[in-house]
Amino acid sequence: MKLKGWPRPLCDETFTSWIFRSAHNKHCKNFNCDEGEAYYKATTRLYELESDSDFDFDFNSAAFVDLCSDHGLPQSLMRAYFRPESPFLCLPYYRFSFCPKCIREDITFHGLPAWRKSWCYITSPICVKHKAILTITDEIPSFYKPWDAFASEPPDSDPQHELLMHSRRWGGISSKVLDVSIAIKIQKWLERLEREKWCLLPGANKPVSSIQVSHVAGVLIKIFLSSRTRFRGPGAARWLFNEGPEYIVSENFNYRESMEFGSGSASPYHRMIAILMVGYVFRLFSKNDLHKLIFAAESSGFPWLKSVEGLGLHSPWFHSEDEYLELVADFYCLDDSVQGRLSHFLTGVECAAYRSKVLDSSKMKFWKGFFPFRDWSY
Ligand SMILES: [Zn+2]
Repeated sequence: MKLKGWPRPLCDETFTSWIFRSAHNKHCKNFNCDEGEAYYKATTRLYELESDSDFDFDFNSAAFVDLCSDHGLPQSLMRAYFRPESPFLCLPYYRFSFCPKCIREDITFHGLPAWRKSWCYITSPICVKHKAILTITDEIPSFYKPWDAFASEPPDSDPQHELLMHSRRWGGISSKVLDVSIAIKIQKWLERLEREKWCLLPGANKPVSSIQVSHVAGVLIKIFLSSRTRFRGPGAARWLFNEGPEYIVSENFNYRESMEFGSGSASPYHRMIAILMVGYVFRLFSKNDLHKLIFAAESSGFPWLKSVEGLGLHSPWFHSEDEYLELVADFYCLDDSVQGRLSHFLTGVECAAYRSKVLDSSKMKFWKGFFPFRDWSY
């Protein structure tokens, strides 16, 4: 895309990043930092889960419409070029993940750093170009976020740098033993679901709807990344491979809100674990990759899950039958082959509901007859 008087957007750049670079571009007389800050402020409501404002991807906000009309920017072209490629977006305030090498290359080749759309996707915790998990900036997000990321860039020579440590939050599976290419394969598979109409699950002979698989994968990721609240444990990706406890979110979220907030605010490390778990449920790993994953987890002191049922059983506890029924409703009406991939996981989720004691007593009695809680193992 080329607009007269404006710098050309970089590949995969966000709208906010482009106007940040435009405001600092000496050849762009149309736009300045005050206008950029005003746009950012008008589209930012920090800390809100149900915020209707999004400085990167809300192309219907009054601030966006005003900015376009004041500066002669064609709205439809802006919407088409800067729209997200994934429906699974990190919450605006928690879009703090970036690739230091990409930022450094931007400075070298373009003079200014740029923020990527893919860094805003829950399902993209890894820079595919540099084959590295994203790191994070600790700065409060602002219009100058790309600069802040450049300024807070951890040096390569210091793997114990505070930012690198924080990007893994409490530590977990060591990056020294985990082959990041395994997670990249899952990330690319998730990306393909957004581009292609049909997909073929490994071992299947009939294609299935990519929209359907993408929806289910998104629900799984949100379950795995659920927030820990005062009354409910976190999703499996937030605690199974962590050193130390997961922090408690003070809000009293219901099940769905915990999923939305937890996934929208998760660190790149937790998001990477979540997409690996999706790969496990859908049986996307080769034998060799699964072996490497199990080795990386176990050599870091974290036993890998012995079954997909076990992963379902590690779903956050339910507070009511309705919470359970609402969750599994997301898995109704699926193609047989997709349903088949999920059956073991859903068996585990059902057991989690029994364990949460939210199903009626006759079901509980039936369940206890087959799976005495104390002897339960997987
Ligand atoms: Zn990169």
